[in-house]
Amino acid sequence: MKPKLFIPGPTHVDQEILDAMAQYPIGHRTPDYRDLQSTVVSGIKNLLYTEQHVLISTSSATGLMEAGVRNLSRKKVANFICGAFSKRQAEITRICGLNQDIFEVEWGKATTAEQVDSALSTGDYDLVTVVFNETSTGVMNPLAEIAEAVNKYPGVLLMVDAVSGMLGAPIKVDEWGIDMALASVQKAWALPPGFAVTSLSERALERSRSIPEPQKGFYFDFVRLHKAGEKSQTPITPSIPHLYALAEQINRINVEGLENRFQRHRDMANRVRDWGKDQFGLFAEAGYESDTLTCFGNEAGIDLIALADKMKERNYLISGGYGDLKGQTFRLAHMGDLQMTDIEDVLGVLDEVIQEL
Ligand SMILES: *Cc1c(COP(=O)(O)O)cnc(C)c1O
Repeated sequence: MKPKLFIPGPTHVDQEILDAMAQYPIGHRTPDYRDLQSTVVSGIKNLLYTEQHVLISTSSATGLMEAGVRNLSRKKVANFICGAFSKRQAEITRICGLNQDIFEVEWGKATTAEQVDSALSTGDYDLVTVVFNETSTGVMNPLAEIAEAVNKYPGVLLMVDAVSGMLGAPIKVDEWGIDMALASVQKAWALPPGFAVTSLSERALERSRSIPEPQKGFYFDFVRLHKAGEKSQTPITPSIPHLYALAEQINRINVEGLENRFQRHRDMANRVRDWGKDQFGLFAEAGYESDTLTCFGNEAGIDLIALADKMKERNYLISGGYGDLKGQTFRLAHMGDLQMTDIEDVLGVLDEVIQEL
């Protein structure tokens, strides 16, 4: 038996999903395939509360993080950083040779609407990048408020790395005015890795049409992806197993009910925080704790590497901190298809293992 995944990605995958993926392939230029893609795309639109566009990508989320900046900025990007993944977005922007300014807060703190508003007041930017749920610190940024601030500035698009938040907490794409909310499927979608999805607003598509092709490249050109998408096709051969899995997962989510799913995430998050906040301290600033994962500090001063190792011996995978926070924090995911019973289970084992350290 493989260790059960309580790391913030890849996350636990239910057997029904694995079974759905293990189907004989179909040709990707057939009517059957078009039905599959069309079902999946309209299912995703519902889950993201959008009537605009959804693109699918056979890549991990980082592919779409790169695509976003290359398709959506002509002038200058404002990158907001509050941890390792939002920092990666800024690094991608730099490597792609785009103009940028960086606005960073201390890790563990949230990016706020006030911060975004004051940055945009200079009028220098045409794209904002922000992370919804910063997986390295356990901070969930106030996305609705940030979007409201961005939308005060016409011509500024909002691109959101929603990788570890999407489907664990609401993202009301149209109502809030988000131009791009992207995610890979191995986090709160609870599928195996290798695929990514994004919403795309009409005005973001318009922006992409105005960007020269060499800046966008071929594989991730939104205009090309959208054009094929209108015929329920992709320009390339997609990962068909992931589309089977997405179709299955969308059905399962609709059976559970999206609101119930969000509530389950909030309940699991509250349980995990209550378990460890006094003993270890929460790394995230109060009021911005994530619903999909918890990042604990180490006020207890225990050996966190040994903790993760001992948990693995018991067949539970937890995370010992990401990047610069390795050894200083540990993280527990409570997202996707994990249930409260799984959370009770892992917390019970953690209690035993901590006694042994
Ligand atoms: C996991 C993660 C990523 C990277 O996603 P990949 O699918 O590995 O490319 C980016 N941003 C956030 C917030 C993440 O949690």
